[in-house]
Amino acid sequence: MASESREGRKGQALTRPRTPRYLVVSPHLDDAVFSCASLLAARPGTIVCTIFAGTPKIPQRTGWDDAAGFVDSTQAMQGRLREDKLALDVCGAHAIRLDFLDGQYGPLPDADTLAAALGDELERLPDLELVVPLGLRHPDHVRVAEAWGILFRARRLKSCVVYGEAIHRTARGAAAARLAELGAAGLCAHSLDETWLPERLGARALDVKRRSVRAYASQLRAFGERLPADIAKPERYWRLGWASTASALRALRRNCATADGARTRTHTA
Ligand SMILES: [Zn+2]
Repeated sequence: MASESREGRKGQALTRPRTPRYLVVSPHLDDAVFSCASLLAARPGTIVCTIFAGTPKIPQRTGWDDAAGFVDSTQAMQGRLREDKLALDVCGAHAIRLDFLDGQYGPLPDADTLAAALGDELERLPDLELVVPLGLRHPDHVRVAEAWGILFRARRLKSCVVYGEAIHRTARGAAAARLAELGAAGLCAHSLDETWLPERLGARALDVKRRSVRAYASQLRAFGERLPADIAKPERYWRLGWASTASALRALRRNCATADGARTRTHTA
């Protein structure tokens, strides 16, 4: 079982009630903000649970960390944790960090182990609605999606909100394929439009997103030229749950038609 640390929020100007309602699962230190910062801004007090937040005991050198400007994994994780704290502070979110190691540092934990860790958090925070990554492209993200899939099949999770991971969602057909896969497994994903938490589309939430994304300076540096026009595009969410065959098929058809690139409006500078 992974250990964890929790960090509180310090001094920001957000004034909404801070009752947390959502538990957002972030594979890496940045995915929740890159993909869901407007949601975090709309619901200050949301908890972000980062899965791969551990630091290798023996320092390692990887191409990604080098591109991000770090000499080794110890310096990288120190820097990334600092950036993440700054970003979550801007959003008014709280952090739970599990100490599983990022896939660049070695073999991933198996899905059952991750499911157990995630299940523990859900039991400890039963009043929060879970928000999980769809599981697009990156092996670490796919493994996290396998873990929440296990919780569904075990009926420990009956419904949740799913988000399309920024950057990874640009892989053509990836989101539609994942939604089809979930449909084939008997789960029904309903796309959530602008009427769901409309304040996440307001000027304040979008400003929070702009500022919080910039906190991940090392990761933006590593993306280099590839960054992230996609981060400026609207966040994508679905509500997922078990469904009747008929409703699952309807959702499947709808998702196949709209999952990739249906929305192009940008909202950050
Ligand atoms: Zn990631």
